[in-house]
Amino acid sequence: MSQVEQRVVHLQDGALAEVGAIIDRVSARRLYFVVDESAYTASGAAALLEPHFRDRCVTRFSGFDLNPKLHDVERGIEQFREADPDVVIALGGGTAIDLGKLIGTLACQPTSARDIIIGKSGIQRSGPPLIAVPTTAGTGSEATHFAVAYVDGVKYSVAHNALLPDYAIVDSTLTHSLPASITAATGLDAFCQAIESIWAVGATDESLAYATESARLAWKSLVGATHGPTAELRQAMCRASHLAGKAINISKTTASHALSYSISSEYGTPHGIAVAVTLSPMLAYNAQVSETDCADPRGPEHVLTRIRCITELLGVESVAAACGKIENLISAVGCPNSLDQVGITSNAAIQRLVTQVDANRLSNNPRHTTSKSLFALLSKNPAQGERGTSVP
Ligand SMILES: [Zn+2]
Repeated sequence: MSQVEQRVVHLQDGALAEVGAIIDRVSARRLYFVVDESAYTASGAAALLEPHFRDRCVTRFSGFDLNPKLHDVERGIEQFREADPDVVIALGGGTAIDLGKLIGTLACQPTSARDIIIGKSGIQRSGPPLIAVPTTAGTGSEATHFAVAYVDGVKYSVAHNALLPDYAIVDSTLTHSLPASITAATGLDAFCQAIESIWAVGATDESLAYATESARLAWKSLVGATHGPTAELRQAMCRASHLAGKAINISKTTASHALSYSISSEYGTPHGIAVAVTLSPMLAYNAQVSETDCADPRGPEHVLTRIRCITELLGVESVAAACGKIENLISAVGCPNSLDQVGITSNAAIQRLVTQVDANRLSNNPRHTTSKSLFALLSKNPAQGERGTSVP
């Protein structure tokens, strides 16, 4: 029961039935189930999975905070070690899946969860197989080898191949009951992850293929999935979310994600919205890349080709028009589309935001960024011209 080398993806309506088939196939007796209880019931997953749990020993982990915290990981590890499970199932949004990755893997290491999360020690071995079942179309966490965790209020990202789920079960019927607000915020996360992946320094031809298909699908489907969802639109958003996960699994994210973490922790803004509010300014900023400030070793022409790829998929000719399209998309799904609208109204607040950003995380942005250049971009200073077009 120890090694499952190849990751398996089931991406179709009704894919949840595969969970039962997998636990039967691998003869799992003891299951560790990380579950968002409200999503479990509302999505309809409970009715389908419970029969498979009946004659097995199932240890449930739930009641965790929104955004994975060290204390939840530690509570899970203690419970996991006692249960000694032979498979882990994580069902819910990004938090549930990240916790499934962290608990199942970190419980099997000789060093403490805290040390691994803060980077003082590494992951040395894999945990039992992980089956990831997203109930939102957003983070794409089921397709990535990293997990977010907060320690003493500071956000860390743990990256290791052992964290990549062995099985991804992407069943869009589980998203049918989501309210419009969650469809919108999580869908914006998928869209932003795809756009950031397109221009990321870490992007490859493979990640670009996933990212452009994801961005196209989200661009076409998100407004409909939010205001008048059909099975097809839900399926398209699940596909967009999964492909964006596959894209950032290779390329990683860039400045808008780096900025989003302190927006979320300070203002309580949902992750997808916190990312989306700086996507349009970052597009304007990155489009002005030059020889002297290009962070991508492939050069500014390469970055500009990627920017054209974004304007094309949004169906416009200019960067200014693409910025307008992005802002309109965010408004059209009923979300705030600027820092002002999420409550970051003063230059002092913007200053605080840009100085909290980890410079390391910005290094994947295609144009060099510093807290000074971000402040010039995002602040309200008439002397520097239009917001979003100032050059640092
Ligand atoms: Zn994200």
